[in-house]
Amino acid sequence: MAADELQQLNGVGPSLAGRLNGLGIHTVSDLLFHLPLRYEDRTRLSAMGSLSAGETAQIEGEVEHAAVIPGRRPSLLVMLSDGTGRLSLRFFHFRAHQRQQLARGARLRCFGEVRAGFRGLEMVHPSYLRLGPDEQKPLADRLSPIYPTTEGLGQGTWIKLTDQALNRLRKEQLTLRELLPESMLQDLRLPGLTAALHTIHRPPPDADVHALVQRTHPAQHRLAMEELLAHNLSMRLLHQRQRQRQARALEQVSTIEAQFLQGLPFALTGAQQRVVAELHRDMTRTHPMLRLVHGDVGSGKTVVAALAALRAVGNGQQVAIVAPTEILAEQHLRVFSDWFAPLDLKPIWLSGKVTGKARTEALAAIAGGAGVVIGTHALMQDSVAFKNLSLVIVDEQHRFGVDQRMALLRKGQDGNTRPHQLIMTATPIPRTLAMTAYAGLEVSVIDELPAGRKPVKTAAIASERRETVSERVAAACQQGRQAYWVCTLIEESDSVQAKAAEEVASDLSRRLSQLRVGLVHGRLKAPEKQAVMDAFKAGVIDLLVATTVIEVGVDVPNASLMIIENAERLGLSQLHQLRGRVGRGAAESSCVLLFTSPIGKIARQRLDIMRHSNDGFEIAEKDLELRGPGEVLGTRQTGMLQFRVADLVRDAHLLQRIPPVAEDLLAHHPAQVQALIRRWVGDAAQFAGV
Ligand code: ADP
Ligand code: MG
Repeated sequence: MAADELQQLNGVGPSLAGRLNGLGIHTVSDLLFHLPLRYEDRTRLSAMGSLSAGETAQIEGEVEHAAVIPGRRPSLLVMLSDGTGRLSLRFFHFRAHQRQQLARGARLRCFGEVRAGFRGLEMVHPSYLRLGPDEQKPLADRLSPIYPTTEGLGQGTWIKLTDQALNRLRKEQLTLRELLPESMLQDLRLPGLTAALHTIHRPPPDADVHALVQRTHPAQHRLAMEELLAHNLSMRLLHQRQRQRQARALEQVSTIEAQFLQGLPFALTGAQQRVVAELHRDMTRTHPMLRLVHGDVGSGKTVVAALAALRAVGNGQQVAIVAPTEILAEQHLRVFSDWFAPLDLKPIWLSGKVTGKARTEALAAIAGGAGVVIGTHALMQDSVAFKNLSLVIVDEQHRFGVDQRMALLRKGQDGNTRPHQLIMTATPIPRTLAMTAYAGLEVSVIDELPAGRKPVKTAAIASERRETVSERVAAACQQGRQAYWVCTLIEESDSVQAKAAEEVASDLSRRLSQLRVGLVHGRLKAPEKQAVMDAFKAGVIDLLVATTVIEVGVDVPNASLMIIENAERLGLSQLHQLRGRVGRGAAESSCVLLFTSPIGKIARQRLDIMRHSNDGFEIAEKDLELRGPGEVLGTRQTGMLQFRVADLVRDAHLLQRIPPVAEDLLAHHPAQVQALIRRWVGDAAQFAGV
């Protein structure tokens, strides 16, 4: 494989090879998969008069005026004109000879991003070329690729390297295996691997420039497809391997299950019963369960998780329940503590905030075999050891990295035996993500809301009309209804949020003196919080002013009105979660989204979606379109979602093609599967132990 060695290339010595290795590039073939991040279009000139801020453009014109603007950081300001308009160039770093070059009368061709400056449009530090008085320099005939890079490795280096790699490919000194099935390429009319790589690295002059820049060119689709397939396969394989391990068969049906069900103030919905049965069936097997439970806000996932937990405990085994945030985990703690108290079962709590003696005690209880353990990622730390962990319940697992989930699983590892896994998604995951992040899990859907839930009528109202809104709230409360007034701030800090909520509460109770106004926020101690919530539940409080702490878990069926302040600042899933707190009782419910103008286009779209839909799945899909997957997932570092070419939004229409191909490859072409994973995901053996 000497031909594939990096140091075979001109200009690559041990030092550059070492740096490339650091970027995961070990061979000449790897270089070919180091793909341009974007393209610069220097194939055309734009008229200055037609430019607008934010676009990247190439322009040509004559210097009308150039001057050094004095100041703490002197800058060189060059005014350029092309007859259709003017634009200034601004340089913060410049040399004397540059000043001479850019003097009045000079002709320049510039490329850069157009920004709105003090005196109209400008480009800051554009790349530029000086032209002779009558010089006609041809424009580039093709797009210029821009490679992702690190400091000290210029674009010129990447061009030289990829040029050589492409040459070897062309001369067949290097061969790359075609890993996509022929039938897929034909069905989707996609080019072969070699052709696609040539197009992407060096788009030919006649290539569809627009498609390439938008990343919708068939060559890009082809690579995106391959990348998505590789990620899908790697997740499937990981889960498949786990499923082949042994697990404790949790067969004993203890009386605590029936006792728990009898104590509930409601009967399970049909969907809940079905899902619980699926979980219990999986858990009686001698291989680990790997099941995702999916359901809209308020569909009642928690009670389902509780029944799975009781099955483990009834078999003398431990269950760990983890959630990605303190507040979500705390909510589980509260609910489970209430539910399990009559069963003489007290959950152990562990989060980052538990320290000192409390932590020592918690760790001792966990090591000693306490049945139910609830917490945050603190449970995944090395210092936490279980006695016999047989079930892991992960809420919103997409917010955890794969490696974090694996760390928790290892705590239940015993020889070849692994814990059962139940994964819950509180935010409905868009189908597109389900196909990647959750590939290879078995899925149960709670597709029925508890009886009596009604769609919530939603309106968006400008905050200038606050008074009218609050009067309507007062009127409704006097008819016996109850309402939430949710205060939101961008600041994460509990204290700032609490203060804002306090102000709103005192303002509202002054103006609506006929109402009993309560206040709840994250700064209250747990018993205080509980007292307020109990009073609201008992109907002693009409209007509850709250921060977003009520986003999770609060359940007061008589509350049928919700006002959300600064709704324009919240994401769709958060709005949907909040709104899910009403619409649970007999009365028709409404939600008012108060917004403060001016409001951006995307924020406006979000409010519109909320007004028109009550369907969590639909809302989640729109959310993905508006924000992109990184944001929806709450983290960009979830390794499996960092793609080199693929984009889950743009390529959503390709995703449905992937599962059948993945299944076929796994069943019939295991070697190809390994090659795909090696090419796109890296070392497939990284989670081999789990
Ligand atoms: P989510 O699926 O959003 O996590 P929860 O588990 O928090 O939903 O349930 C929402 C609320 O509905 C809770 O207060 C819960 O007690 C209640 N609930 C759950 N199942 C039922 C049911 N079958 N009938 C009535 N209420 C239910
Ligand atoms: Mg929940």
